[in-house]
Amino acid sequence: MEVLAYTPQVAAATAGLYDKVAKVVPEIEWPVFAPYVDAINRLKKQRNAVVLAHNYMTPEIFHCVADFVGDSLALAREAAKTDAQVIVQAGVHFMAETSKILSPEKIVLIPDMRAGCSLAASITGADVRLLKQKYPGLPVVTYVNTSADVKAESDVCCTSSNAKAVVEEIAREFGVDTVIMIPDKYLARNVAAKTGVKVITWEGACEVHERFTAQEIRDYRAAHPGIVVLAHPECPPDVVAEADFAGSTAAMINYVGDHKPQRVVMITECSMSDNVAVEHPDVDFVRPCNLCPHMKRITLDGILHSLQTMTFEVTVPADVAARAKKPIDRMLAIK
Ligand code: SF4
Repeated sequence: MEVLAYTPQVAAATAGLYDKVAKVVPEIEWPVFAPYVDAINRLKKQRNAVVLAHNYMTPEIFHCVADFVGDSLALAREAAKTDAQVIVQAGVHFMAETSKILSPEKIVLIPDMRAGCSLAASITGADVRLLKQKYPGLPVVTYVNTSADVKAESDVCCTSSNAKAVVEEIAREFGVDTVIMIPDKYLARNVAAKTGVKVITWEGACEVHERFTAQEIRDYRAAHPGIVVLAHPECPPDVVAEADFAGSTAAMINYVGDHKPQRVVMITECSMSDNVAVEHPDVDFVRPCNLCPHMKRITLDGILHSLQTMTFEVTVPADVAARAKKPIDRMLAIK
């Protein structure tokens, strides 16, 4: 990739964006980022493209080139409402597939095809078919962090926000007291602890969230008295038990906005604290740094390359997409 120059024109065009991220992007790094930010923002208009940035993208992507930010399902739903012809997914592969499922007429690009996910990689569509043979009559509740093939074999999807409601509703609809919940064993156990429905789990885990320990949380409390601990439900149950609040990335962001804690630690991927800190300069963020190596494959120069070359296109066979959309729609119908 060619190295772009930080010209006076680029500096002027991007000055407002730098003001926004100055708290989390060192001044010395901005001349490296700014030419890519400027080039992406100009090229995406020419391509009629939108950039979707997950909460775990780095701040120069999240705040400076994204048209929509959020979690994977919210991003895919927002993009589907636009008349953009092209979606650039600043996130991982299963997220691009979800965008394609909800926007089959649009071209969906991902800057790096290697941007995978330990959860999504833990299970295949064939695994789900075997589970259904082993537990006939039980509904399959599938976390959105899965491939299109896996969603296509499922009865209903769930997010980390609505998992409990989905589990209870689908058990009621099927007239059963047990559901199969895949692929995150920790999310499944955290949900099982909050409901009377029994949950059969799968041995999948997010490699970022499973690294946190309950001792780490106790250490944060000892080092920072009064700190508010927010944990993602992909963390092990003993970590969630130590937290003041457990919720999805969106729920954690809302918590900070609603409660304005003096000092907070977000037990999740580390870029999220940087992104939220930009919006809440009065809150002191203690930042554990567990990086997702898959998310970090997405870079500004990768996004620019994607738009320049219209690569790498993510496709989902039409029959798989149609079957994968049904459990998503079923989830969205659950209040
Ligand atoms: S943070 Fe975890 S769930 Fe999200 S993409 Fe990375 S490995 Fe997958």
